[in-house]
Amino acid sequence: MQKRKAVSLMSGGLDSALATRIILDQGIDILGLYLSSPFGCHEDIVKVADSLGVPLKIVEKGSDYLDLIRNPKYGYGKNMNPCIDCRIYMFQMAQAVMDEVSADFIVTGEVLGQRPMSQRKNAFQIIDRDSEMEELILRPLSAKNLPPTKPEREGWVDREKLLAIAGRGRTEQLSMADALDLKGYSAPAGGCLLTDENFSERLSSFFKTRPKGSMAEARLLRYGRYFNLNEETFVLVGRDKEENEKLEELSLDEVKNGRMVFFKPDFAGPVAVLSGNFSATLSEALFGEVHKLIVRFSKRIPEWGMIRVSVGDGTPTSYLVHSSLELPVVHS
Ligand code: SF4
Repeated sequence: MQKRKAVSLMSGGLDSALATRIILDQGIDILGLYLSSPFGCHEDIVKVADSLGVPLKIVEKGSDYLDLIRNPKYGYGKNMNPCIDCRIYMFQMAQAVMDEVSADFIVTGEVLGQRPMSQRKNAFQIIDRDSEMEELILRPLSAKNLPPTKPEREGWVDREKLLAIAGRGRTEQLSMADALDLKGYSAPAGGCLLTDENFSERLSSFFKTRPKGSMAEARLLRYGRYFNLNEETFVLVGRDKEENEKLEELSLDEVKNGRMVFFKPDFAGPVAVLSGNFSATLSEALFGEVHKLIVRFSKRIPEWGMIRVSVGDGTPTSYLVHSSLELPVVHS
């Protein structure tokens, strides 16, 4: 019999690891697929794929994903999480990978009734229909609660060995994970920032300020304190060393291309990244605002300090600033 192949959508969590393992154990070749976004977290995904022994492909969601979050056809869950649209989008991306590697179907760790918005029976139907993947999405953890899919009907997988889990509890999954000696998966319910109330407020504010904001901007949003400086411009100010480093690393290319401005004090203070509509020469007013924020969140403020300001790939300009928040003096 021809060996079948599936693409398994993996999140790094327990459910998708378990679903993958169940299908692997039925002799199906699996390619793990992780779809990364500025709002997810995939610290554990490589570890999980390694421990399952499956190859892993990581694909970044495109800027159309931001458009989808701004304006979801099926609306939001409790916060800015457009789960139904998001799942449709993910299955469309998975379908492209499936075609690329000539796989036969898709595996996912979704559990019937686990999430109120996207894991109801009729939501599954909408998702499968709108992603044009009807009958090709196999949910091994809840398969016996759902109509048989093509892989089951064709005998590629044995439906009898699939599960009938439903609801929000995790007991069955945890005991199966123990029995199968599954390792490396991340704690349940970790993950998507779009379900977080505070982050959702920040994102909604960002969408108002930057209606056509880019993925590069969205990537920064999980770090630092967020401030809108005017109707079109925002700034992020690091809260600790790790965030300072992340903000610097993630803004580097945008700064070089003149789309963001990077501020770094030479005293014990936070870095700041400004993005939006600033003129080629940074206006005094905007600089003054960022200067105030850097001083406000600095640990030890010298009477006079220097802030290096980078925009474009030239040498940064240094500004001498006073802790009294008087306007800065250009130094070099
Ligand atoms: S929780 Fe986040 S990643 Fe998961 S379906 Fe909802 S919006 Fe998408």
